[in-house]
Amino acid sequence: MPTGPPLERGADFDLSEEQRQVRRSVREFAEKEIAPHVERYEQEERYPLELIAKLAPLGLMGPMIPERYGGSFSDVLTYGIICEELARIDWVVASVVSVQNSLAASSILRFGSEAQKDHWLPRMARGEVLSSACLTEPDGGTDLGNLRTTAARVAGGYRLNGTKVFISHAAHAGLFVVVATLDRAKKHKGVTAFLVDPDNPGIEISNFPMRTLKRDNLAEVRFIDAFVPDESLLGEEQKGFPVLGSALDMGRYSVAARCVGQSQRSLDLSIPYALDREAFGQKIGEFQMIQQKIADMVCRTESARALVYRLGRMKDAGIERASMEASMAKLMASEAATKNALDGIQIHGGYGLSAEYEVGRLLLEAKALEFGEGTSELHRKLIAEYALGLRKQ
Ligand SMILES: Cc1cc2nc3c(=O)[nH]c(=O)nc-3n(C[C@H](O)[C@H](O)[C@H](O)COP(=O)(O)OP(=O)(O)OC[C@H]3O[C@@H](n4cnc5c(N)ncnc54)[C@H](O)[C@@H]3O)c2cc1C
Repeated sequence: MPTGPPLERGADFDLSEEQRQVRRSVREFAEKEIAPHVERYEQEERYPLELIAKLAPLGLMGPMIPERYGGSFSDVLTYGIICEELARIDWVVASVVSVQNSLAASSILRFGSEAQKDHWLPRMARGEVLSSACLTEPDGGTDLGNLRTTAARVAGGYRLNGTKVFISHAAHAGLFVVVATLDRAKKHKGVTAFLVDPDNPGIEISNFPMRTLKRDNLAEVRFIDAFVPDESLLGEEQKGFPVLGSALDMGRYSVAARCVGQSQRSLDLSIPYALDREAFGQKIGEFQMIQQKIADMVCRTESARALVYRLGRMKDAGIERASMEASMAKLMASEAATKNALDGIQIHGGYGLSAEYEVGRLLLEAKALEFGEGTSELHRKLIAEYALGLRKQ
């Protein structure tokens, strides 16, 4: 198994010794405990519960959850490094950590009541509860101000009605973060966030078939007059859009970090191949056109990593909303991951698409990261609006 280029790189130059140690130990864990099994889970279309179970004892289920709730939080940059290193080996395991921490735990920490924190966070940190974010609907995932899933006030709680699609981890989740609208006419001002127990009556979960990531078991989740009690409300009624904004801000950070890991992986697989494979009596890595691809892959990975680490440092400096920087990191890192997978496949020639080599699998998995937490089009629109002064952080 190639270990890739040296760990001490440009964007890492001022990591603390603790952060370097986290990187080394997560990389070692992922290479030893996860990598040998990923392909088998994908072929068997099996959700990797056994691999996920290995995360909590190492503190990897709650890197954004403070110690007083049983988590292992040290800083946001370290959390990004964890996501990067897990994603370098497995999209799904990294996604579990990213959804659990960025979308669920961070929202509960920022907007939840003390009772909600005490109820959910320790169980999430111990890995007893996995989370899903139920945001996207059949009619659209980008325009989240135009939700069709409704929440109606009833005695003691709410009744939810509607359908969510593409929901990662849903079949195994013990917590759904759900957004619904109390008043469709109010668009984003009617959006309300809930912490929902998936075992509540009226919630149906079915398979949502995909061409890729079959080990992720994406789901369609239907709410059919599903009752959720008052305690499920996250934040205030009709104040769910800021909850969503804050969750997606942190979500974009961890997705971008995962994309850096995927970009690095394509590179790590391509370098030894280019140094080994021969054509016309020489190593293909000696051909300038192959070298150009390697150079582009290195530059994309390092540029994306620099944007992601800067964003992590901004958050560690106490800047809660860095939405423009989050969009920049997510856009550049997700497109880097896709382009690196494409270049990696090209370097491998036909073997890039053979079942024997991992790099082919990375392509659609990287492409999926161009959608989650906002598409490239959405991020270009947001970045331009911030730059033009049409939108404020
Ligand atoms: C593997 C995978 C896992 C996922 N996991 C989850 C999950 O766990 N939870 C969840 O809620 N969702 C999840 N999603 C869904 C994802 O968040 C959505 O696919 C994404 O938000 C885009 O929504 P959509 O697919 O409905 O596309 P649409 O919103 O229908 O957009 C279609 C196209 O139009 C473009 N577009 C839309 N609006 C504009 C605009 N204003 N300007 C320019 N272009 C525009 C989009 O960029 C896109 O190219 C997942 C998706 C994938 C692929």
